[in-house]
Amino acid sequence: MTSNIDFLIGILIVLIILVYHYVGQHKLNEPGNNIFVFFLVLGMSDIFFDIVSTVSIEVGGPYYADLSKVLLTVFYLMQACVPYALYCYTQTLKRNYREVGRRNAQRMLFAPVLMMLLVLFNCFSELIFGFDDQGVYFTGPLYPAMYIYAVLFALLIAVEGLISYSQLGAKKYRVMLEFMLIMSLCVLIQYATRFLLLTGFGLGVGIIVLYFTLSNPRERLDGLTDIFNVQYFEEWAMHQIKGGRRFHVISIDFCRIKQINKILGTHTGDQILVDAGNYIWNLSESHYLFRLSGNRFGVAVRTLDEYERLRLALYDHYKSDVAVEGERIECPVIICGLIDAQEMGDSNNILNYIEYMASTVDGKGKSLMLQSDHKMVSGFYYNKEVEAYLTTAIREDLFDIYFQPIYSIKDGRFTAVEALSRLRHPTLGMISPEIFISVAEKNNLISQIGYLQFKKLCAFVREHRDIMDQIQNIKFNLSPAELMTTGYAKRLIALILENDLNPAWFQVEITESMATEYSDVIYRMTADLGKNGIRFCLDDFGSGFANLNTVLKMPFSVIKLDKSLLSGILNDPKIASFYKNIVDVFRSMSYTIVAEGVETKEEMDLVSSWGVSMIQGYYYSKPLDGEGLIEVLKDAQK
Ligand code: C2E
Ligand code: CA
Ligand code: CA
Repeated sequence: MTSNIDFLIGILIVLIILVYHYVGQHKLNEPGNNIFVFFLVLGMSDIFFDIVSTVSIEVGGPYYADLSKVLLTVFYLMQACVPYALYCYTQTLKRNYREVGRRNAQRMLFAPVLMMLLVLFNCFSELIFGFDDQGVYFTGPLYPAMYIYAVLFALLIAVEGLISYSQLGAKKYRVMLEFMLIMSLCVLIQYATRFLLLTGFGLGVGIIVLYFTLSNPRERLDGLTDIFNVQYFEEWAMHQIKGGRRFHVISIDFCRIKQINKILGTHTGDQILVDAGNYIWNLSESHYLFRLSGNRFGVAVRTLDEYERLRLALYDHYKSDVAVEGERIECPVIICGLIDAQEMGDSNNILNYIEYMASTVDGKGKSLMLQSDHKMVSGFYYNKEVEAYLTTAIREDLFDIYFQPIYSIKDGRFTAVEALSRLRHPTLGMISPEIFISVAEKNNLISQIGYLQFKKLCAFVREHRDIMDQIQNIKFNLSPAELMTTGYAKRLIALILENDLNPAWFQVEITESMATEYSDVIYRMTADLGKNGIRFCLDDFGSGFANLNTVLKMPFSVIKLDKSLLSGILNDPKIASFYKNIVDVFRSMSYTIVAEGVETKEEMDLVSSWGVSMIQGYYYSKPLDGEGLIEVLKDAQK
């Protein structure tokens, strides 16, 4: 009976196509990838020699016995390598490859060497296979040794995988078992039928399974830019950290991508990112490039020379406009540099730290370079400590409310207050709300804090109802996450009504940047709250790029001018005239205008002469605790 090699030919074609695609993709120069390529090529060659030796024996017959012998010997030499190559590949899947896996692989090298010697020795001894005087193929007494050898390796892989399960993880172990199951099934069928040559087929299918589950380079590439994705960065960085290898990271944030997408269309934004990926990839041979988030790339390098060279090259390139489709576009970047990133101890920490570094600058102006230093690192760990404390603080409701009275120029007294949150840490002391609010926002805790605080605020007003004879409204701040939480507005209203308070006593502050970015959500929320008589104040006007059109369409009745607008009004006529004109414009539209951050008499005199109706600032009062507020209001009545 002649053997059926159709399956072998089919799988060989598939593997050739696989190799073609595999080679053309970006890959890290890593043991796992290198051994996979080796395994792939070995598997292909093994199948190839399986086919040609079978054809030579069955078609060539006795005339080609010598050729068949050579081809079969090569085939068996490969058969001796395949189980070992699979073993090495499983070692690279372990997290501790460099410490343990590599040593295991070296230790087991004796097995394929012995096997190959046996195969070579077969040329004289014909213990495995041979050709008789008529040139007819026969199997020798040691023929089963090849099978036993493969089975022993399979057992070794399975048992060792189980022992080092924690280093391998469930997914990888499962895939290895799948591989072995496919192989064994094919070997069994081949053994049972004798003519269906399926061992090579099983090997090919196994390799394809590995490709799709564990070694598919596409899975590690970002779809848009074709460079490595953030999941791969995490994996790669963890590998380096565990192996105690030194590396430095440079991140590049394209701060204006959002605006560019909005103004020039997403294809322009995408093009900038794709160009950046190509440009940075080609900057060096020896670095690793990752897309860490929508608008952030990360480059990892091994040497300080390379680190300095790349940082400067990137800065040089992006300090001027970039060319996209023939147009020159201003596209400032923030370049953050972290030397000895492995010291962060964890890839997540590195990502968070880069995020933190980039958040310390606003990125609205020119391209700039930041270098990690001691101060930056302690700021980061401070934030982490705050983060860790927030859950306790929420659970035990440790936040306080402070009140900053707002002075009405017309009435000559305080007629409003802003409620501000405070948090004290047992060892760090008072934590600035700028910090704990933004940490809470990042960790999706702000709605819980906002709700707790509003509850406290309602309880306070209920207890000191008479302050509302003096005060027209109490302003409180809402964060974007609070606006987006469905039903949040209703819960706030419910709190007000439960405490038997008047919703018209409350005013929601929404910052300018939030109003611009989340306009649609705000429309909905303001409708819900507005129905009940709550009014709205636009906070921090002038601190960013407000989209005036959107803002004017929203139901704000009060506009607070940001304190940053005040700096310079005393000595720069241009700044002064700018402030005055804003006041004029909003006054003409009958908004109530609050000047925030007034600290001196000169500032107070100037802004009130321009027609600002209310003043919030240290000049009149700092934020006070509940008792302090009652005191101040009592004094004012005297
Ligand atoms: P904000 O809403 O702009 O609040 C005004 C901030 O300016 C307060 O800072 C206030 O203490 C400060 N301020 C008032 N007058 C002056 C002055 O004359 N000079 C200077 N230098 N500063 C002045 P604070 O209390 O540190 O709050 C910072 C920010 O934290 C607030 O800015 C607000 O955005 C946020 N925040 C505070 N409490 C809450 C809260 O309960 N919920 C939410 N979502 N955000 C809050
Ligand atoms: Ca505010
Ligand atoms: Ca403000």
